[in-house]
Amino acid sequence: MKHPNHPELRSFIPVSSDSDFPVQNLPWGLFRRHEASESSPEVGVAIGDQVLSLTRLEQKGLLKVASEPLFQSATLNPLMEQESETWKYVRECASHLLREDNPQLRDDSQLRQAVLLPQDQLTMLLPAVIGDYTDFYSSREHATNVGTMFRDKDHPLLANWLHLPVGYHGRASSVVISGTPVRRPKGQLMPPGEELPVFAPSKRLDFELEMAFFVGGKTNRLGVPIPLAEAEKNIFGLVLMNDWSARDIQKWEYQPLGPFVSKSFATSISPWVVSMEALMPFASEGPVQEPLPLPYLRHSDGGKHHFNIELAVDIRTRESSQYQTICRSNSRGLYWSMAQQLTHHTVTGCNVRPGDLMASGTISGQTPESRGSLLELTWGGQQPLALKDHQSRSFIEDGDEIRMRAWAEGPGFRIGFGCCTGQVLPALDAPASHG
Ligand code: CA
Repeated sequence: MKHPNHPELRSFIPVSSDSDFPVQNLPWGLFRRHEASESSPEVGVAIGDQVLSLTRLEQKGLLKVASEPLFQSATLNPLMEQESETWKYVRECASHLLREDNPQLRDDSQLRQAVLLPQDQLTMLLPAVIGDYTDFYSSREHATNVGTMFRDKDHPLLANWLHLPVGYHGRASSVVISGTPVRRPKGQLMPPGEELPVFAPSKRLDFELEMAFFVGGKTNRLGVPIPLAEAEKNIFGLVLMNDWSARDIQKWEYQPLGPFVSKSFATSISPWVVSMEALMPFASEGPVQEPLPLPYLRHSDGGKHHFNIELAVDIRTRESSQYQTICRSNSRGLYWSMAQQLTHHTVTGCNVRPGDLMASGTISGQTPESRGSLLELTWGGQQPLALKDHQSRSFIEDGDEIRMRAWAEGPGFRIGFGCCTGQVLPALDAPASHG
């Protein structure tokens, strides 16, 4: 039997060649049907423009994985809590059911109607209950650009950066699903040349192009670090992320403990969680790490711990009906691997839990068009981006929509992530009722 990643596998469900979701992908997601707002959320995998409901397969006794049901609790957490062998097994079951040479689902129209749902009739939901969210800072090019602009162009990287994956603890409560509008934040700003801060809407609202992984599997007990060689077993899958950032609020607040309310107002993620298994054909080597990291962070197996994933950011301004691409990047250039991030996160004994979300940091590359934020693309707002129809942008304006895309190209198919979108709404006029 062919492996679920086999490039020649085909489904009986037609999948166009430019689809993000061929049978080789099968990303996990949580959804609710439009026409049934009272209905419970369901877990499924995307296939073409359809979704195969694992919740319904399990209800019908056609998918038995563990002693307890895994897909009846309106979140992916029970699946994330299983070990990687179980994720692989469920993916194999779904792949098997969807193959063009398997009549079980293909030839049973009643069953097909019950368990296959068109994606355009579904609302995607946040896939997991996220206990904790951590954001790293793992692109050397991004850290260098920001260090050059904000601190010291001759020494843009701080002394620790090449020795450990720098990160900060973000807010899990404000992680939202793609499509959720984002309210322009108000906060403290220090206008140039002034001595006292003012309270005003952010004038320098930005996106950050990131990828993030969900923690899964049997995680570590408090006090016991996850060794590097074990870390990838604790990565359930990846999503795209927009770490919305208010640069003017950030600039005033960030010293000495890092970003706080300038980033905690919203973080958008794409709804489909692409499994590590589906990404394996796209594993690649990362940049050479020089100086060599300390032994606990050293990949000494010569293996591939990065992924060749193409990334794009598009903007649709409030004046326009069309998206324009403003950034093209690739996740393979990240300096620190996800395994190194997770191992470092736990090195002092911090316990992580299934459903925790860990983001890469802005993914910038070496060329100007691969810079993953407006801060870098416009060099601090000094070089506004020229857009179509005589428009330009230094930072995001009200009504603008940001869309991120990610995909890896295989022989005859692509493993895509779908989109991560968000439109910016004007700041609130007056203090709103907090309810
Ligand atoms: Ca970030």
